[in-house]
Amino acid sequence: MTTHVTVIGLGAMGSAMAETFLKAGHQVTVWNRTAGKAGALVALGAHEAASPAEAGELMVISQIDYQAMYDSLAGVDLTGKVLVNLSSDTPSKLREAADWVAGKGGVLITGGIMVPPPGIGQPGAYTFYSGSSDVLSRHEEALKALTDVTYIGADPGLAMLFYQAQLFMFWSGLTSFMYASALAESAGLPVSAMLPYAQETYGGLAGDGPMGFLKHLAAEFEARVYPGEPNSLHMQAVGMQHVVHTFEDAGLDLTVPVALKDLFARADAEGHGAESLGAVIESISKR
Ligand code: NDP
Repeated sequence: MTTHVTVIGLGAMGSAMAETFLKAGHQVTVWNRTAGKAGALVALGAHEAASPAEAGELMVISQIDYQAMYDSLAGVDLTGKVLVNLSSDTPSKLREAADWVAGKGGVLITGGIMVPPPGIGQPGAYTFYSGSSDVLSRHEEALKALTDVTYIGADPGLAMLFYQAQLFMFWSGLTSFMYASALAESAGLPVSAMLPYAQETYGGLAGDGPMGFLKHLAAEFEARVYPGEPNSLHMQAVGMQHVVHTFEDAGLDLTVPVALKDLFARADAEGHGAESLGAVIESISKR
């Protein structure tokens, strides 16, 4: 079914979205704060609006942050509009924005896209969505042209809560690999010497095997019980000091290793030393 979609924001992501909607056969209107970015899309059949007020019912927004939406739509009547904002920001900003859009007569669906622009329209891509499930399901077919639709819940902040959590795991996991690679190089070894072991560690953590710590820790977190007999948190807090000294001896940056050492030491000092590593969540959550 052909839908009229208005894409607001023609950065790398918004342009990829508009192109994907066009290729999926939808009728596409585009608008960007700075004119001159719509040429290639117009050549593919898009209509370039002079103002966001020309938008149809479904508006897909991809801008730098939510302030950009306020800047773009402050004077626009949003009565009857469905705004699907796929920009990055914080859960609280998304909740405020949902109220703002409702106050102007529209409905805000929030989303966090889990692929870079070349992944838009490709198999396996998905986006976390939150807000009204009824409104989302009315537009799900059109939105599926971009990515799979992964609905998290009615609270409009949830899409960004899941998105930022995923980004944190992505960035901290990759940064750990950068530290490990720098350590290999400090010993005169190529990064490729470390790679197979990094692949085994990261793959194992996510799996169901003996190294499947994500599943194991999730069960501990939900039960709030952290049996620590075979490998106590105290032992690992001391071990983390050895990690810091290893990076120090190699003359490398210590920012991330020291942050982990301090966190483990605090959890140990807060009385969790005889429990397992999972008990660190008690110090993170300040339960
Ligand atoms: P870009 O920097 O390429 O584009 C930013 C867009 O925001 C431009 O269209 C820009 O307009 C617009 N903009 C910025 N400030 C304002 C403002 N005050 N008022 C109106 N428009 C404004 O970013 P991307 O396209 O890469 O990313 C867009 C969103 O998607 C971001 O929130 C990003 O975090 C998210 N995202 C990006 C991914 C990626 O890999 N690129 C992956 C997942 C999510 P103008 O041209 O006028 O400057």
